[in-house]
Amino acid sequence: MSPVVIIGTGLAGYNLAREFRKLDADTPLLLITADDGRSYSKPMLSTGFAKHKDADGLCMAEPGAMAEQLKAEIRTHTRISGIDPGHKRLWIGEEAVCYRDLVLAWGAQTVQVPLEGDGADRVFPINDLEDYARFRAAAAGKQRVLILGAGLIGCEFANDMSLGGFQVDVVAPCEQVMPTLLHPAAAAAVQAGLQGLGVRFHLGPVLTRLAQADEGLEAHLSDGSVIACDLVVSAIGLRPRTDLAAAAGLQTNRGVVVDRHLRTSHGNIFALGDCAEVEGINLLYVMPLMACARALAQTLAGNPTQVSYGPMPITVKTPACPLVVSPPPLGQDGNWQVEGQGSDLKVLCHGADGQLLGYALTGSAVMEKLALNRQLPALMA
Ligand SMILES: Cc1cc2nc3c(=O)[nH]c(=O)nc-3n(C[C@H](O)[C@H](O)[C@H](O)COP(=O)(O)OP(=O)(O)OC[C@H]3O[C@@H](n4cnc5c(N)ncnc54)[C@H](O)[C@@H]3O)c2cc1C
Repeated sequence: MSPVVIIGTGLAGYNLAREFRKLDADTPLLLITADDGRSYSKPMLSTGFAKHKDADGLCMAEPGAMAEQLKAEIRTHTRISGIDPGHKRLWIGEEAVCYRDLVLAWGAQTVQVPLEGDGADRVFPINDLEDYARFRAAAAGKQRVLILGAGLIGCEFANDMSLGGFQVDVVAPCEQVMPTLLHPAAAAAVQAGLQGLGVRFHLGPVLTRLAQADEGLEAHLSDGSVIACDLVVSAIGLRPRTDLAAAAGLQTNRGVVVDRHLRTSHGNIFALGDCAEVEGINLLYVMPLMACARALAQTLAGNPTQVSYGPMPITVKTPACPLVVSPPPLGQDGNWQVEGQGSDLKVLCHGADGQLLGYALTGSAVMEKLALNRQLPALMA
């Protein structure tokens, strides 16, 4: 019997395998991953310095232990190079692997910017455990980190690396932190909290050139300023992986397009996690992928089940200014109202009918999240 094949051993791949095994102990299961297959929780990558955890410390299980636990075969350091939906097989170079059902859990890749200068190899994206290990090795004995990007992940790294003893500069071409996620008042509170730790923000310019200097690096910004640093962390965004899916003729948009059964435009191929766009919604967070894993496990076990999304608030790991945010659903506009002062803000968004559509809570106001969550509409009922 051909196996159920899952591409990717991130939180989406491993959680799906776990949920599936609760329902079906016998169907052969094959997981294929381009990385080393260690099980870890990706959100912990941005709290590693504060918690004194290197990459080995963040690893929760080796692939051998995962294979035993999941009664699965796991092929590590193996990159799939193509999919042939018509013959229900995929390609690893010249090797063909047949599947009963195929699940794409291959995540999102970091956006790269072209950069001039001889210091370009000192730019570190951190999107998996191996990236994190590389960064930790390069950061040993260094003191100054420049972070590109002031989104959620850039701000979390800024907080964590400050707590880890680094001097942190953040460069981003925007007017406020987390511009796509936060009302300006909440953004100002978070920025002030991080500045209180010593983080320096350079909002507006972009990094144009990175040059080796006598000691470390010189980062040249588009406004003419120069920042001295030892390493650069790139946190400018993630793009769902869609290329192999598109090449195989599957429908793609921002992500791999799936319906509420997590089914792609081809019957035996499914997708979940960062790479999936579920009925037009591509969420790069853990809560949605867990909901998808539970629903898809049922479907793969013979009980077709649609995924539902309740409210999906995000707890941002910036302890310098605690933050919980639940942005209004895409395309829904409302009236914003700001209560509180200083770092303790309750920023609410209501629709014309008075329905709470979203919120941002900072500082001590985060205590109100449970009460507010009960008032939020489901993202996908
Ligand atoms: C620093 C950081 C902090 C975060 N913090 C939070 C948080 O606090 N809360 C939250 O909800 N979310 C957080 N997120 C987002 C969350 O971690 C992700 O949404 C989630 O981990 C994505 O899991 P995934 O399995 O879809 O993708 P990934 O973990 O990226 O896994 C993709 C897998 O696919 C494999 N792969 C890719 N291409 C191929 C190929 N061609 N062949 C074979 N294998 C392939 C990779 O090797 C990997 O195993 C954070 C993200 C980052 C980067």
